[in-house]
Amino acid sequence: MVLDPISLKIALGIVTLTLCLLFFGSYRHTKSPYSGWWCLALVFLLGGNAAYLLTGTPQQVWADPLGNGLLVAGAMSVWSGSRSLRLLRAPLWVLVAGPVVTAVASAVENPASNAWSGGFVYLAMMGVGLGLATRELWLFRPRDSKVNRPLALAAGFLGAYYLCRSFVYLAEGPDGPEFNTFFSPATTCVITIVLLVTVSYSMTGLSNEQLINSLNERATRDGLTGLFNRTAFMERAAQEIQRQDAMDSVTTLILADLDNFKDLNDRHGHAAGDIAIQAFAAACQASVRRTDIVCRYGGEEFTILLPGADADSAVRTASEISRRLASAKAPDGITFPTVSYGIATSTVADSELVDIIAAADEALYKAKSLGRNRAVRAAG
Ligand code: GH3
Ligand code: MG
Ligand code: MG
Repeated sequence: MVLDPISLKIALGIVTLTLCLLFFGSYRHTKSPYSGWWCLALVFLLGGNAAYLLTGTPQQVWADPLGNGLLVAGAMSVWSGSRSLRLLRAPLWVLVAGPVVTAVASAVENPASNAWSGGFVYLAMMGVGLGLATRELWLFRPRDSKVNRPLALAAGFLGAYYLCRSFVYLAEGPDGPEFNTFFSPATTCVITIVLLVTVSYSMTGLSNEQLINSLNERATRDGLTGLFNRTAFMERAAQEIQRQDAMDSVTTLILADLDNFKDLNDRHGHAAGDIAIQAFAAACQASVRRTDIVCRYGGEEFTILLPGADADSAVRTASEISRRLASAKAPDGITFPTVSYGIATSTVADSELVDIIAAADEALYKAKSLGRNRAVRAAG
C-alpha cells in the first residue's frame, strides 16, 4: 500500500485545524499559558504544512524555507508551553533563533529546485525542540497527575523520531531506502496525526486535573491566611483524633481568639485588622509541628489541633505563638493584639471533636474573663 502524501497532508491539516479551534476555545475560557502555547504550536504546524503544499510549484523557492521555519517554530512553542507548566519562561532568543536558522539554512540550499533544501537543519531542530519539551514534561510532576508521563513519552517519541530521521537523512539523503521506508513525509504525517490527538487528549486531561486541584484548594483553604477553613479542619481533625485514639494517644486542641480585635479595626481600619490576622496565622505556622493542623475557625478565631500532645505541651505552643506575634514587625503606629487561648484535650471530652471544641471554648471564655492574654486549660 502506498500512502498518498498530498491526501495525508490535507488530513493532517484538517485534524490540526480542528484541534486548534477546540484549544482556542479552551484558551479563551481558561487563559492558561500552556493552552495558548499549544494553540500557537498548532497554528505553526498548520501554516508549515500549508506552505509545503506549494512544493513542486514555482512558489517552492520561498514556501519550503517558510514551511521549515514554521514547523520548527511549532516545536519551539511546544517546548515553551511545557516550560510554562513549570512556571518557567523559555528564552525568547531561542524561540526566534531556531526557526530563523532553519529558514536561512533552507534558503541557502537552492530551494527553487531542491525540495529538501535545509533538510538536515530542519530535522535536527525539530528533534531538539521536541527533546527540550520532553525534558520539561518529564520534570513537571503535579500532585496525583496521571497524564504528565504519557505527555512526556509522546513528545519524547516524536523528538527521537525526528533525530533518527535527521541522521538517516544525513547518511543516505532523502531518496535512500531506509529514509523512504521509515521516515518519508507520508509516514511522518501518520505519526504526527496520532501524536497530535494523543497529546491534545492528554493536555485536556491535564487542564482538568489542574482545575480540580485549584478548586479543591479553594474549597479547603481560607483566602486571607491560606490556613485550613472550618469545614476542612472539622473533617481532618475528626479523623486525626480517631487515629490517635486507636493508638491510645491523646490529642489537644487550642482555640485562640485575638484580644480586643474590634478596637484595632475601629482605630486603624479593616486593612490593619487583616494584617494582624495574617501575622497571627504566620506565628501559628512557625510555632507548630508539621503534623499539627491550624485553621481559621472564623473571623479572628483560630483552632490548632496537636495530635499526640498533652495540655502542657499545648500551653507551651500557645506561649510560643504569642511570643512570635509580639515580636513580629507591625506596620507603623500599630501594635498587634495579644491573644487568649482555651485548651482542651481529648480525655476531657470523650474524644468527640465537637465536645473538645466546646470545652476549649469554655476555657477561652474564662481566659477572657480573667483579663485576656493568657491560656486556660479546660477543667476535668
Ligand atoms: P475579645 O477580646 O472579647 O475577643 O474582643 P474582640 O473585639 O476581639 O471581639 P469581637 O467579637 O467584639 O470582635 C471581633 C471583630 O473581628 C469583629 C469583626 O468585625 C472583626 N473581624 C472578623 N473577621 C475579620 C476579618 O477578616 N478582617 C478584619 N479586619 N476584621 C474581622
Ligand atoms: Mg471572637
Ligand atoms: Mg476577639
